[in-house]
Amino acid sequence: MALRQEPHVLVVGGSDSSGGAGVARDIETISAVGVRTCLAVTAVTVQTHDAVIAIHHQQPGLVADQMRAALRANKVSAIKIGMLSTGRVIVAVAAVLSEYPWIPAVLDPVLASSSGRPLLEANAIGAMKRDLMPLCRLVTPNLIELAALVGSELAADDDDALQQGKRLLAAGPQALLLKGGHATGPRSTDILMRPDQEPVRFDALRLAGTMRGTGCMLASAIAAHLANARSLEESVLEGKRFVLEKLRKNSAE
Ligand code: PLP
Repeated sequence: MALRQEPHVLVVGGSDSSGGAGVARDIETISAVGVRTCLAVTAVTVQTHDAVIAIHHQQPGLVADQMRAALRANKVSAIKIGMLSTGRVIVAVAAVLSEYPWIPAVLDPVLASSSGRPLLEANAIGAMKRDLMPLCRLVTPNLIELAALVGSELAADDDDALQQGKRLLAAGPQALLLKGGHATGPRSTDILMRPDQEPVRFDALRLAGTMRGTGCMLASAIAAHLANARSLEESVLEGKRFVLEKLRKNSAE
């Protein structure tokens, strides 16, 4: 069968039975931006909105096979990576990415659920930094993930976050988006960091309430805009707009 020519985002991540996060959220978001998706499932999880009940890792070969088939079947213009579950899956995903260096990859470095359950093996952080990050166009840690990835305490302020960001940039991603949603204060600021460029701040009013899956949504919306050939900065701006709108609707409900 012929290759499908419309741009697609290849979503690589875990399923979440509650629908609050994971690949269901990713597909919903990317399709709202008007871009098609194809899929490689890394883990099947059993979740409600309050708890992660069970996690079933997929075999690394099965994840790589899904990615290669998706890439053969469709014109993939961006790749969005979420929950990876194990170090062996990370190595398999990195191997496929290295075969497609021209496709921008956005990594949401998912480490745990908001209920506190680990979604990545603790000893896999090294593989994520060493094998995967150098292949990524953008990595989108929140402040908790940033601290865990560089082995530090939670950043106390903006300067601290920028210092930690610089250390993570040294792992080789082309850009980082530090998400300030877990900080306190009336405004929520995300910072786009790139080597040899001044940081760019995206500032928004902090909204009351919480919502699951916002990290999945942001990285997915950014990937969808990259797939539409928008610049990184435009894609981040549009991604932030998308999530803010969802949060607004959610807090009004
Ligand atoms: N489950 C899966 C499969 C995920 O990919 C993620 C986050 O990316 C989560 C759960 C965590 O979502 P939340 O922080 O909203 O619980």
